[in-house]
This record gives sequence, C-alpha cells and structure tokens, in this order.
Amino acid sequence: MGIQFSQLTNQQLIKQLTLDLEQQQCRFIVTANPEIVLYARKHFEYATILKQADLITADGIGIVIGAKLLGQPLPERVTGFDTLQQLLKVAEKKQKSVYFLGARATVLNTALKNIQRQYPKLIIAGYHDGYYQSAAEIGQTIKQLQPDIVLVALGFPKQETFISQYAAGTHAIWMGVGGSFDVIAG
Ligand code: UDP
Repeated sequence: MGIQFSQLTNQQLIKQLTLDLEQQQCRFIVTANPEIVLYARKHFEYATILKQADLITADGIGIVIGAKLLGQPLPERVTGFDTLQQLLKVAEKKQKSVYFLGARATVLNTALKNIQRQYPKLIIAGYHDGYYQSAAEIGQTIKQLQPDIVLVALGFPKQETFISQYAAGTHAIWMGVGGSFDVIAG
C-alpha cells in the first residue's frame, strides 16, 4: 500500500520509545488506521508527510490482515490509544513531561482531569485545544516548553501535517492521537 509499517509488537514499541525518551530523540510516530492508508493513496502530499515519520504502526486489524494477504505479515495490531496510555505510564514513571494539543477546550480539560487522576505524578508541560488561530504560535510555544512527548489530537491529516511542520529541532516524541482525548474525556 506504499506505507512502510513498523514490525514492532506493542511491547517492543514501548521499549523503543522508552529508550528514545531517555536519549531525548526527536521522533514522529504515526498510528495508521485503514482510513489514513486510503487517504494517503489518494493524497500525494499526505503520503509525502507519512514518509517523514520515524515509525508507522498498524492501527487496525484490517491492516494486519491485509499485510498478511500481501505476504508481508505484521506481528500484531498497535493502536494509537494503547500506545498513548503506555506512553503516559512511562512518562509518569520516568518523570518526562507531556504537551497535549487538540480537541475542543471542554473535552481537553475533562481529558486532562481524567489523565491527572490516572497518572497523578505525570508532568504536564502544557496544553492547548485544537481550535487555535495560529499553528505557528502553538508550534513555537511547544518548542520553548521543551516537552519530552507531544500528543497531537487534531485528527488526520491535520495532526501529521502539524507534526511534520513543528517537530524538527525538538527532542520530543510526537504522535498523532486522533480522537483519543474525546475517548479519555468519556
Ligand atoms: N480536532 C481539532 N481541531 C480541528 C479538527 C479536529 O482539535 O481543527 C479534534 C476533534 O475535536 C477531535 C479530533 O480532532 O477531538 C479528531 O477526532 P476524529 O475522531 O475525527 O479523528 P480520527 O481518530 O478519526 O483521526
């Protein structure tokens, strides 16, 4: 399908990301569901952005089945939501800071409250809802705050586009997390 999927299992991915966090690597993670794959096939610009990603996981059983049918099997499904939860757990344990971008302000606030309840020692570097005036301003603020992890919940293709524009030069793990803040807010 023109996308180079990661061969890592959930466990291996978290191990890798933990190492990346410790080494302060700049990482661009995409958790690609079938909608993302189809969109990339039709939109050359988005496909080019996905090529910049350090790691693309198969966020959907359809992708795992498709890869098997194509004779290029993947070990298992690696969802954005699970990866997000695991990353927050590691961040709390290792005292790494997280910036949250995206969703409606009320949703984001509720999600942050729930996250603080679940991960009481988590360091929140900052946050902003996903309905801002200037992406450049937000990008600049994130750069200044120097978080270790940036979770971008703008939905695709907006979140990957944002990451491709502002991740360079930072020492953070950036990941698009779609509607995850809405799920966490309940
Ligand atoms: N969103 C946003 N800004 C925008 C467009 C969308 O913050 O300009 C948020 C929206 O509020 C929701 C998330 O992005 O929280 C998108 O969720 P969706 O379920 O559509 O994304 P998917 O999981 O399908 O990528």
